[in-house]
Amino acid sequence: MGEPQGHMKILVTGGSGLVGRAIQKVVADGAGLPGEEWVFVSSKDADLTDAAQTKALFQKIQPTHVIHLAAMVGGLFRNIKYNLDFWAYHGSLIALALPLQRKNVHINDNVLHSAFEIHNGPPHSSNFGYSYAKRMIDVQNRAYFQQHGCTFTAVIPTNVFGPYDNFNIEDGHVLPGLIHKVHLAKSSGSALTVWGTGKPRRQFIYSLDLARLFIWVLREYSEVEPIILSVGEEDEVSIKEAAEAVVEAMGFHGEVTFDTTKSDGQFKKTASNGKLRTYLPNFQFTPFKQAVKETCTWFTNNYEQARK
Ligand code: GDP
Repeated sequence: MGEPQGHMKILVTGGSGLVGRAIQKVVADGAGLPGEEWVFVSSKDADLTDAAQTKALFQKIQPTHVIHLAAMVGGLFRNIKYNLDFWAYHGSLIALALPLQRKNVHINDNVLHSAFEIHNGPPHSSNFGYSYAKRMIDVQNRAYFQQHGCTFTAVIPTNVFGPYDNFNIEDGHVLPGLIHKVHLAKSSGSALTVWGTGKPRRQFIYSLDLARLFIWVLREYSEVEPIILSVGEEDEVSIKEAAEAVVEAMGFHGEVTFDTTKSDGQFKKTASNGKLRTYLPNFQFTPFKQAVKETCTWFTNNYEQARK
């Protein structure tokens, strides 16, 4: 209200995390358009599990658009340990980060039915808490569209990595974990231990590529139906190949071993980027090895400040 036509004020929650930082960089490097105002907030600005703080934040910023990235996240091993917390945290965020005057939001048969058709099959047992919570975002988006006409949508990225990731070995994802482990192995002259068999397969997406895609979704994608943001199926790599890319990028010449007492997690979760490709047939993803190299260089150069 009262804003010049076309003015967009974009609130980004989780603005200091892996994807938030990448969006900041892409915007700062020139992707922002005239008439767009970007506001990045983190947990320091408001606790989004608190309804009053969430409301106050929205009243203060008055966004026209929201990219909601704030979440409790972690790699396979943190998910296995804290399924309940992942469920509860996401459940509360979903409930609270939405418009605050709603009453009795009933998800009707149609919504449940379409959700059923999409969310067929249970998630992998290692991360069911996180996965069910995430699925409910889509259920809720459909309900908001049906009942209030809101075009909220969900994006579904595959495994994200890049600068500003959480490089904590116990809690983080595989690539930042391996980068940190190689760094330590190099300085102590010990072996690199890869967890599991190295055979599971993943599609990795570089945070800066994902940031460009987020901005495209914000401006151009008007479906409520979620969209998978991923490299192609042909670009899926094994954990062993991912470890080799890190070893090469870090110039590590020591021994590489596999600890098969550790979980492999889900063997693969191959996702199609066919829908993305029908919209953006020419989008260029950063080649995996180059993106790994840039992330390793960032970690080495920012070792002191990196989350680890
Ligand atoms: P996921 O894709 O949700 O399973 O999450 P991760 O990014 O944590 O990837 C887990 C896969 O990488 C599993 O197959 C693990 O066995 C394997 N892996 C190998 N080394 C590591 C490591 O140092 N940290 C993590 N998180 N996973 C590792």
